[in-house]
Amino acid sequence: MKKCFLGLSLFVLMQFAYAQKTIIYCGQLIDVTTLQVQKEMSIIIIGNTINEVQKGFAKAETTDKIIDLKSKTVMPGLMDMHVHVEEETSPTRYIDGFTKNKSDRAYGAIGLVEKDFMAGFTTLRDLGGSGVNISLRNAINKGLIKGPRIYTAGKSLATTGGHADPTNNYREDLMGDPGPDEGVVNGLADCAKAVRMRYKTGADLIKITATGGVLSMAKDGSGAQFTEEEIRMIVSTAKDYGFKVAAHAHGAEGMKRAVLAGVNSIEHGTYMTDEIMQLMKQHGTYLVPTIIAGKSSADSAKIPGYYPEVVRVKAAVVGTYIQATFAKAYKAGVKIAFGTDAGVYAHGKNWLEFVYMTEAGMPILECIQSATVNAADLLGVSDILGSIEKGKYADIIAVDGDPTKDVQVMGKVSFVMKNGVVYKSEK
Ligand SMILES: [Zn+2]
Repeated sequence: MKKCFLGLSLFVLMQFAYAQKTIIYCGQLIDVTTLQVQKEMSIIIIGNTINEVQKGFAKAETTDKIIDLKSKTVMPGLMDMHVHVEEETSPTRYIDGFTKNKSDRAYGAIGLVEKDFMAGFTTLRDLGGSGVNISLRNAINKGLIKGPRIYTAGKSLATTGGHADPTNNYREDLMGDPGPDEGVVNGLADCAKAVRMRYKTGADLIKITATGGVLSMAKDGSGAQFTEEEIRMIVSTAKDYGFKVAAHAHGAEGMKRAVLAGVNSIEHGTYMTDEIMQLMKQHGTYLVPTIIAGKSSADSAKIPGYYPEVVRVKAAVVGTYIQATFAKAYKAGVKIAFGTDAGVYAHGKNWLEFVYMTEAGMPILECIQSATVNAADLLGVSDILGSIEKGKYADIIAVDGDPTKDVQVMGKVSFVMKNGVVYKSEK
């Protein structure tokens, strides 16, 4: 036992001693904490960690690895706070539930997160799936497959018949009565048990569907679906396990209950009232806007047969409100964390959210801050991610061009580094 421990220590020491020093030369570097664009900077990385950020192009030793991004704008790896790693929008989405095995979902998910990753999103917060999301995170962390950092809710929590009840609208003999293990809760005991089940199965956070939703096979897309007491039980149990709580909410009543009960973020926020905006400011609740999901599902609703009729009616209406609500919430001073609902639209187009956010009046540097500093804060990982500063993991990307002059360059990510390893570059 002792020998093994000593052997491991020696291995760690050797790694430290031989950690590669990498210098990135940046033509422009976005400082996401001060919202300044700095010219001609160097980032010095030791192993997987940022060691120093210097003005000018630092002198290199022969053993140093140089990465030349002098013609690019460099920034921290982007963080999308609302994705579904297992899902991709499709007219066969509903039938897929009956034809795809979990292993099919798993193989599919590898390619989906790679699209987000290559688009510069080095961290994803997954807000609900079948449990494949947890296995995918583990496989990436073990280095079995390449992919972004994933923080996942595992299975979303809904009430019976609510948004994210996995057997909504099934034939009665298939519908059954799913419970806390499947993420369906009714009453306080179920709420506590479901959170504990998420802990047991290895989730990183809790997601609830506080109101109806657009893509569920149910009539109501916005009504409240949890009592405030139920949400309070979820939040207080979540705290015991160090979990944060994200609440999907379109309608005002369910959203207000979730904010009062102390959730950390409101997802979508479609019919948010002025009163709720004030409450969110008081409670420090983040809004994760997902404008692109609203727009994309409203567009898909125009394609005959793309959605079942019960979904089409909701998608045609709900999606059109999100951008205007975001504009009001931003102006009112609600904290914003970047999130897109990738999977509801095609993975890899996450960057379009920057276009929609700037259209709604948020300056691009603040949008990038919402996808780095704020996202890390919402995840509770500001000590290791979210900015290019000494001691943080080297998650760094670069775009061709200057996003402060043209937001479209956010779609031209030509360099992706995660944990000090380059996953995408021109050479
Ligand atoms: Zn979602």
